[in-house]
Parts: sequence; structure tokens; C-alpha cells
Amino acid sequence: MRTIVLALLLGTACSGITAQELIYQGGDHSTPVGQHLEFLVDSTGTLTPEAVLGSEAFQGTNATVPNLGISKNTAWFRFTVRNRTAEPKLFLVIPYPDIDRIDLYRSHIGGIQALGSQGQAVEHSGSVTTRTGEYVFELDAPRNVPVTYLMRIKGHKQVHLPMLVASPIEAASISARWNLFAGGFLGIMLVMALYNLFVFLSIRDRSYLVYVLYIIINSGAQLTVMGTAQTYLWPDDQWLTVNASVLFVLISIATGILFTQQFISTARFSPKLHRLRPLFHLMILVNVVIYLLVDTTIGYKMAQGISGCASTYLLVMAISSWRAGSRSAGFFLLAWSFFLVGVLVFVMKDTGVLPYNEITAYAMPMGSVVEAILLSFGLADRINILRKEKERSQAEALATLRENERIIREQNVVLEHKVKERTHALQESNDTLKRTQTQLVNAEKMASLGQLTAGIAHEINNPINFITSNVQPLRRNIREIVEVMAAYRAIGPADADRELEAVRSKERAMELDESIAELDDIIDSIAEGSSRTAEIVRGLRNFSRLDEDDLKEADLNEGLRSTLAVLAPQFRDKVSIELDLGAIPPVECFPGKVNQVFMNVITNAVQATLQRPGDRPRVVHVSSIQQDDRVLIRISDNGVGMTDDVKVRIYDPFFTTKPVGEGTGLGMAIVYGIIQDHQGDIRVESSPGVGTEFTIDLPVRHQRANQQRA
Ligand code: ADP
Ligand code: MG
Repeated sequence: MRTIVLALLLGTACSGITAQELIYQGGDHSTPVGQHLEFLVDSTGTLTPEAVLGSEAFQGTNATVPNLGISKNTAWFRFTVRNRTAEPKLFLVIPYPDIDRIDLYRSHIGGIQALGSQGQAVEHSGSVTTRTGEYVFELDAPRNVPVTYLMRIKGHKQVHLPMLVASPIEAASISARWNLFAGGFLGIMLVMALYNLFVFLSIRDRSYLVYVLYIIINSGAQLTVMGTAQTYLWPDDQWLTVNASVLFVLISIATGILFTQQFISTARFSPKLHRLRPLFHLMILVNVVIYLLVDTTIGYKMAQGISGCASTYLLVMAISSWRAGSRSAGFFLLAWSFFLVGVLVFVMKDTGVLPYNEITAYAMPMGSVVEAILLSFGLADRINILRKEKERSQAEALATLRENERIIREQNVVLEHKVKERTHALQESNDTLKRTQTQLVNAEKMASLGQLTAGIAHEINNPINFITSNVQPLRRNIREIVEVMAAYRAIGPADADRELEAVRSKERAMELDESIAELDDIIDSIAEGSSRTAEIVRGLRNFSRLDEDDLKEADLNEGLRSTLAVLAPQFRDKVSIELDLGAIPPVECFPGKVNQVFMNVITNAVQATLQRPGDRPRVVHVSSIQQDDRVLIRISDNGVGMTDDVKVRIYDPFFTTKPVGEGTGLGMAIVYGIIQDHQGDIRVESSPGVGTEFTIDLPVRHQRANQQRA
């Protein structure tokens, strides 16, 4: 049965035909052995060359390149070569790498001589000259003597036997052609891979990377099928040499599907088919397992099946994506069809439809080169697609931006409107606040003015009393004097003595001397009263600078004095004031305002001493001193003092520790504002129960004035 199958594969095998001996004539071309072969299938795999040599079971074949199909059988070939040339050595060249083992024997007078063993599953030995994807045996071919050779072939993959007898030069040229082709193939693929790698690095589109991966793995697959990879990359790894081609092909199918899907965006254009990918990956995995662990021949056949399915799958997917409008799918179809033609030729050669020759042998790598180039064009074209996509997304982004801008602008208008409203409201409440503040400040002013008026009224009342209460006695005394004087004037010469006596007695009766003596006291009193009134008025005039707005040079000592003068009624007899005014230069300031500072601070000091219980003398000490270009006014008291909590808040408007009606809490706030206006400083030291000292520190030259001068 197996023989028949093999016979079918080997072409028109005719039993009974005895092959002619091969006569090597030399010349330009190597001579194919094919039609001079006889074959015999050894299904047991146990036959020895001695047993086979003379066998009658050998059959002839007329195929130039015998095809052994995919089988684990051992096949024997017998052929006879007669060397008609002067060439002392001839070579048997088998340019087909996918064979596990080739053993070559020659018949000898004494029996059988082994010429060597080669193949992927063999540690190469014997008459090997080159090993670049083809097997080369040295034939001992004496001139014009027919020599019969026996060859045993073992394989598990598709096995062809392109066999040539060649002179050393021809053998070398076959080898060279093979190498040239492999090198060219590798070169083109590398260029493609590198080019696209660069493109990937510069534009970062994943398709390029997947392409590079695909190209590398695909090249690997081709090179292993060609035998080149094994020869150059892992000449010593037997296992890999035997199995690499199948494994590489399977991996390349997996990456091929990955690449194709990425390249033509099947997820978008053909989503249903796209989802089948895991199925293929699973099949490939199963295939690998079967190939490695179960049976290599079944695995090999299965791999061929999967290749076919995957090719069809990709083709269908590409067509449907193309229909759905994928531009890349067009490129892919074109490229893919080249590769498929390559594969088709390869398969047709394998199944014996096409003859084995260099073109059919190289068909698949050539197909994949063309494919790689076309796909690279397709990828280059992708840049256009990417650009268009980018333009579109930029346009979209621009539109969104514009829209956003519009919304922002609208919102801005709304916001502006709102801001205006709020600003207006704020302005109003600010105005109200300012008004209230002014009112409060005015109220404070009025309050101090009230105190002031009360004090002044009381103060002036006293000296005026001096005057008014003395006016009556003065007038009476003067009237008396005038009366007496008139009496004296009326004394005529006639009765002068008597009249004089009468006036004198009247004078005595009136006690005129006393009246005259009284006169001095009265006038003194009036003078005293009027001078004290004048003093108060002067103080008042000084103090009433309160409302002056002009920057002036003022004597602060005088300010202190007049302030104390107007305040005196509040504390006289209760608090003693100690004045210690030093020589200070006139200070450029708003005198009214500074006086208000003095008044507020001194009032607080007085109030603090009055608040203190006990009989200890209550003292307020006021001093002034110059320090460089500044004047320091110190106002200290031995009053209640302040806790730290109070101390930090005294400048807060409305902060007061005094009962309602007594304190407004504005005094120190006003003080602070005024001192600020003067670029001065106010410091406080205080301890509860001991007392407080305020230091008012004012520059002699007012900053603003300086600026104006400058
Ligand atoms: P008011 O005197 O109306 O209370 P001020 O602003 O003048 O408001 O003073 C705020 C607070 O600062 C006072 O209530 C008081 O507690 C404290 N204070 C100011 N000066 C003194 C001082 N010399 N001794 C003790 N406490 C003081
Ligand atoms: Mg006060």
C-alpha cells in the first residue's frame, strides 16, 4: 500500500522499468540523477545495504525530482554513475535541506562501502565539502567505470530529492547560487525590517513594529525552510536544526495574522472575522504541542493545514475589510496574493503538480520578498492615512476648542456681569461701611468734644465766678468812692471846713478806706479769674486744632500741655500728672490729630488709674524726648494694666473692656490710624495690676511732606 502511494508520488513509476546508468559527460551543467534512480520502500526500516543492494524490489521512476511525500518510511535509492570525463572527483549534490538523514553507500567488489551520512538529524560526517542548505557527497568515480550507489533516506517532513551529479566547480556554483539567493533574500528582508523600524521609532505607530516583527519571523521561517538558518545560526543544535522550520512557520502564521489585523485595522473593518484570531492562536499552540510531543509527521501535516486555513482566513478578512473601505486592505491583498502565489507554487511543487527546480524551490521566499516590499509600500501609504486621521482629529480638536472658546466667552460675559453686580454691591456696602465708620469716628469725636465741653464749662465757671462775684463789690466800692469824690468836689470856698467835715464823716460812715483797701483784692481776684480764663481759652485754641488738616511744624510739648489742660477737670484732685517734657524739636505733623492721640491715650491712662481699687496715689507720667530724628512721647500710668489677651486687641475697632456707655472701643483704633498716617509707631508695655506704658514714636520730618518736597 505504502509503496503504491510513494509510487504515485514519485510520478509515473513503472514497475519493471530498469533505470539507465547515468553517464556523466561533464559540460556546462550538472546532471540530474532523477530518472536514473530506482527506489524501494523499507517500511520496517531495518533493511541493511547489503540486503537491499541486489534486491529485485527496486522500481524505476521517470521523475526528474522524486517526491517522497510526508512519511516516516525509509526509502532506498539505487543508481549507477559512469564518469566519462577526466574529472577525478565527482559530487552528488542534494539541494534540499528538509531531510532527516541521508546515508550513501557504494557497491564494491568486496561488498558495500559507506560514503557518509548527512541530514538534519545527523552529526554531519564523511565526505562533506559544503553545507549551506544542500547536501554534498563526494563520489569516488573512476574514469569510465560504472559504480553503483545506494542511498537511504529518512525524513518526517515533505521530502524531495533533487539530486545532481556535478564536477567540483559546478557543485561550488550550486552552493554559491543558493547562498546568493539566501543572502539576497536576507538582505532585502533586513532592509525592510530596519527601514520600518526607523519609521516606527520616528512616528511611533505600532503597525510598523508589528511589521518588523512579522518580517523577522517570516524571514526566519523562510531561512529555516531553505536550511540557511540552521547552517549559519545554530550549526551544532541538532534538535533546533530538525524542528526549526516547522516551529518558525507556525510562529510566522501567528505573527502574520497579528500583523494583518493591525495593518488593515480588521477590528474596525471586519470585526466578526477579527475575533477569530484567538482560535488560530489556539490551533497553532495545539499544533506545536502535537508536533513536539505527539508525532512529528502528524504535526507537520497539521501545520500545512493550518497554513492553508490561515491564508484563506487572511484573504477573506482582507477582502471583507477592503469592501468595508479599508485602503490598507487593498495593499495587503496585492502583497498577499504575491506571497500566496509563492506558497501555491511551493505546495504544487510539493504535491508534484509542478516540477522541482530552482524557481519552484525559491518560489516561497521570492513571494515573501515581494510581499514584504509591497506591504512596506502599504505601510508608507499608511502615513497618508495617519496624516488624514491626524488632520481630521486636529480639525475636530480645533472645532472643540472653538466651541469651548465660545462657551468661555459667553461665560465670561455672564461672569463679568456678575462681577459687576457683586462689585457694585461691594462698593455699596463699602460705602455704607465708610459712612458708618465716619459716623462712628465723628461720634467718638463728639464724645470727646462733649467731655471737653463739660470740662471747659466747669473750668471756666470758676475763674468767671471770680470775676462776676467781684463785679458787684467793685461797682459798689467805686460808686462809694465816686460819691465821696463828688462830695469833695462840691465843697465850695464859702463853708469849706464844715462841708469838708461833713464829707469826712460820711466817708467814715461809709468806711471808704476799707472799700479802697478791698479794691486791690477785688481787682486781683478779677485779674486772676480773667488770666485763668485766658489760659483755658488759649489751651482750647491749641486743642481745637483737632480739626485742622494742614501739615504743620508743631511743638508737641505744647500739645501735651494743652491736652492736659482741657482734660484737667476730669482728674484734678483724683489723679496726679507728672510732666517731664524734654527739649524736642518741632515735629512736622497734623497737630490736631496728634493732640487727639494724646487725648485718647491720656484719657485711657487716667481711666485705668481710676479703675484701680485702693488708696495708692494714682499717677500718670507724661514725658517727651528726642531720639535722633524722632520724638518719643511716653505716657505711663499705674492703673489696672492689661493682660496679653487685651493687649493684642486694643487697636481693634470697638474693642473695649469698659462698661457700655463708658467706652466706645474706638479711641485706640483712631490712635493707631493717626500714628500710621504719620509713619510713626506706637508700642505698649503693660502688666495687669502694675500699669501701662505707651510709647508714641513720631519722625521729626513727615514722610509725605518729604516726598512732596523732593
Ligand atoms: P475705650 O477706651 O473706649 O474702651 P480704646 O480704644 O480707647 O477704647 O481702648 C481699648 C481698650 O484698651 C480699653 O477698653 C482698655 O481695655 C485698653 N486700654 C487702653 N489703654 C489702657 C491703659 N492705659 N491701661 C489699661 N488698659 C488700657
Ligand atoms: Mg479710650
